Amino acid sequence: MLIPDDEAGVTAALRKASAAGTPVTAAGAGTGVTGARVPLGGWVLSLERLTRLEIHGGHAIAGAGVALHDLHAAAARSGQFYPPDPTEISASVGGTIATNASGARSFRYGSTRRWIERLRVAPADGRLLEVGRGDAIDFDPGVIPLPAVTKNTAGYLLRPGMDWIDLFAGSEGTLGVVTEARLRLLSAPAAILAGVIFFAGDDAALDAVDQWRSNGARMLEYRDAPSLDLLRGRFPEIPAPARAAILFDQELSSEDGPETDAWVERIAALAEASWFALAARDRERFRQFRHALPELRHGQVARVCTLPLRGPTIATGIRVVARSLSHEYLRQR
Ligand SMILES: Cc1cc2nc3c(=O)[nH]c(=O)nc-3n(C[C@H](O)[C@H](O)[C@H](O)COP(=O)(O)OP(=O)(O)OC[C@H]3O[C@@H](n4cnc5c(N)ncnc54)[C@H](O)[C@@H]3O)c2cc1C
Repeated sequence: MLIPDDEAGVTAALRKASAAGTPVTAAGAGTGVTGARVPLGGWVLSLERLTRLEIHGGHAIAGAGVALHDLHAAAARSGQFYPPDPTEISASVGGTIATNASGARSFRYGSTRRWIERLRVAPADGRLLEVGRGDAIDFDPGVIPLPAVTKNTAGYLLRPGMDWIDLFAGSEGTLGVVTEARLRLLSAPAAILAGVIFFAGDDAALDAVDQWRSNGARMLEYRDAPSLDLLRGRFPEIPAPARAAILFDQELSSEDGPETDAWVERIAALAEASWFALAARDRERFRQFRHALPELRHGQVARVCTLPLRGPTIATGIRVVARSLSHEYLRQR
């Protein structure tokens, strides 16, 4: 395990590893749900000491080892926010770039890739590259046909004329080690309304998603009945008749503006059983609610050491994007 103090230490380690033919696995905070930073041999290169963090108007400079919670907190103190939010706030900036993390706000803001303005990356030969948005790659990457879906973050994003940032983002450390990034920040919204809306069944929940998709929400996420059953152990206040839920999150121009009333009207029939929050402390509880599902699921899988054929899906980052897809999923379950 190598823990360099700075970029020079990173490049020196990579040069040494290349010369010795030793594989290197970059390590962020180790929160990745696929366990991709667990090495299959060779050296582990931890970026935990690269924690430079500067907040400016419209952007932040963050070392690969900066924890997302530190970035979010520093941005908030300046009246700004960093849109990517995979809810796992102990993840590192480098890890979220390497996995092109999306998350709770990606319905509106897309994944991490979109928020990177500049990247400092050390490829295996030990050089240090600095690439900016729009700096095009100088080779033909070919094209990997992608499925015609709204969201697909598996594999390299290969397109002729693409830029280096899009190539490195999501490459899971296979093309180089991210050491630092310049990340775009936005002005913090005046208020945020969050909610967990419960439904008696999937049809009503999917109908609601169809209707709400164009309402400017920054999060719309679906939880099925087995997921709610798993969550009940930690959140006994989930209404007993609820068999589906939609988590939403919307920016408001003010706390008592017409958008809040619009949301309440939208879900009038279900409002009594559902949860709403404007205050940061209550919204934090919703974040924990969202976060709890993959956590509980991983614990369950770890206990049985095998994936059951039936049961709740690991719903991290799932957006209900197409009714037909949802119906196919329900048919197969
Ligand atoms: C409870 C929970 C909820 C989550 N929800 C979401 C979600 O909704 N959406 C979503 O997209 N993700 C979600 N995630 C996954 C999250 O995006 C990852 O856990 C996170 O991005 C990994 O960051 P890390 O620093 O822990 O990286 P690690 O786990 O340490 O590493 C992840 C990968 O990145 C590589 N890597 C790490 N650092 C670098 C670097 N500096 N340079 C190059 N390669 C590097 C590693 O080799 C490995 O391949 C969730 C995770 C948890 C635990």
